[in-house]
Amino acid sequence: MIAAAQSSNGCDSRFQRDYISWSAISTYQQCPLRFYFKYLKGLDEHFLSASFAFGGVVHSAAEFHFNELMAGNPSPDHDTLLGVFWEEWKTRSEAAEIRFGKKEDLNSIAKTADRVIEAFRESDIAQPKGRIIGVEEELRSELVPGLPEVLGRVDLIVESEDALTITDLKTARTRWSSDQAERSGEQLMLYAGLAKDLAPGKPIKLEFAVVTKGAKPTVESLPVSFDQQRLDRTQLIMRRVWDSIQDGHFFPSPSAMNCPGCAFRGPCEAWKG
Ligand code: SF4
Repeated sequence: MIAAAQSSNGCDSRFQRDYISWSAISTYQQCPLRFYFKYLKGLDEHFLSASFAFGGVVHSAAEFHFNELMAGNPSPDHDTLLGVFWEEWKTRSEAAEIRFGKKEDLNSIAKTADRVIEAFRESDIAQPKGRIIGVEEELRSELVPGLPEVLGRVDLIVESEDALTITDLKTARTRWSSDQAERSGEQLMLYAGLAKDLAPGKPIKLEFAVVTKGAKPTVESLPVSFDQQRLDRTQLIMRRVWDSIQDGHFFPSPSAMNCPGCAFRGPCEAWKG
């Protein structure tokens, strides 16, 4: 489904994809104008923060690792994963300028990458118990009536005798508490909804695998309990956000958290409604 409209505020509210992801919904929640520039106008992101790039590149190294295990191969060694890390970093830095924060440069990124990959390889998360049945698996279905298909790209799906475990990998500056994991669980609820037919009759376990980037990186698994009411609520949020998009409600929502790393600061300043 593609909605077509010229809204009352003059913004074109056509959504050009035949699916919607949680990432798009949460971008709208953080800043509707950023959503507009990214998903409707399709503006290029000319730069990205080193921190954001780092998270994506660690994901790629983990994806490579799990794909090797799924194919029945031994765990890749440290240098191989580091090689994947730098190959992916190069690809990203050729596509957009990578901007370093204070006290950050390529040298500090290299040291952190080395430590994070070591911590990841030594963690339990790197050796899942069960059969890996999906890595960066795309699941999509008409989960929310009236919306395009919902698409989830799930980092890791493991099937064991007694459960299907869905893992979402996060990189963070500091360790997450169990509370923080529970509070951030909307995306995982949605993945549970999308994965419900993958292993009929088996309970679905949800977890975040949180990798920290400090001087001593940690890799921790934090379970999130599935709750049908939360899934219903997440679907309701998606519907409300979708209605706002259809109605053309796009406006800046400045915040100290989002604006410094936003690639659309120029168009945002030029925006006149
Ligand atoms: S600069 Fe801030 S307010 Fe403007 S689009 Fe980006 S996140 Fe939104």
